[in-house]
Amino acid sequence: MPRAAASPTPPGFTLLGGRLWLDLVNTDDVRQDVRVDTIGEFDRFVAWLLTAGVIDADRAEALQRRAIEQPSGAAAALVEVRRLRAALRALAEKGNGASATATREATLAELNRILSRAVGTRRIDRTEEGRYVRRFIPVGDAFGGLVIPIVESAMDSFVRGEFDRIRACAGRRCGRHFADDTRSRTRRWCEMRGCGNRAKARRRRQRQG
Ligand SMILES: [Zn+2]
Repeated sequence: MPRAAASPTPPGFTLLGGRLWLDLVNTDDVRQDVRVDTIGEFDRFVAWLLTAGVIDADRAEALQRRAIEQPSGAAAALVEVRRLRAALRALAEKGNGASATATREATLAELNRILSRAVGTRRIDRTEEGRYVRRFIPVGDAFGGLVIPIVESAMDSFVRGEFDRIRACAGRRCGRHFADDTRSRTRRWCEMRGCGNRAKARRRRQRQG
C-alpha cells in the first residue's frame, strides 16, 4: 500500500463536534489558515475511528492489515467516507437555513444509499469502560460497514430534529461545526482555548486601539 509518509507528524484529530457525524465533518480542518484533511489516507481514517471510539485497537490493527492486502478496497472506502463527509458538511452548513429542506433531502438520499448497500448485523455491546455501544458487523467486505456508525449518528440528529443546535464556530476562518448542547444555547466557539481566546484578545485590542 502506498504510504504517504510525507508529513512526519500527522495532524491530530479534533473531537469537539458533540456528534460523531460533526467530528467527521471537522476532519476537513483549517490549521493556521491552511486547509488540512486529517484523514488524507486510509490509515488515518482508521486512526480517527479508533480515536473517536468507533472501533477498538484490535479492529484497527485488522483493518490496517487488510488495507495492505487489499489496497483498492481501502482506497474505495476512503472515497466513500469523503463522499459522505461532503454530504454531511452540506447538512452542517445548510441543514437549518433557507435551503434546509433541499439540503436535508439530498443528505438523506446519500445516507439511504449507504444503508441500502451495507450488509451486516447490528449488535449492542458493552465496552471495557462499561459504556454501551451499537455495533455494525459487516458481512463480506471488511471495509463495508465502517461509515455506518457515522451514518447512524446523522440519522439520530434527523430523528431528534436538532438541526437548530448545529452551529459553525464563530471564529475567523474556522470551518468547524458543533452541536450546541448548552442549556442556554450560547456556545459560539469550537474551543474556548482556541477560537474563543483569539476573539477575546481581538476585542481587547480593539478596545485599546
Ligand atoms: Zn473554531
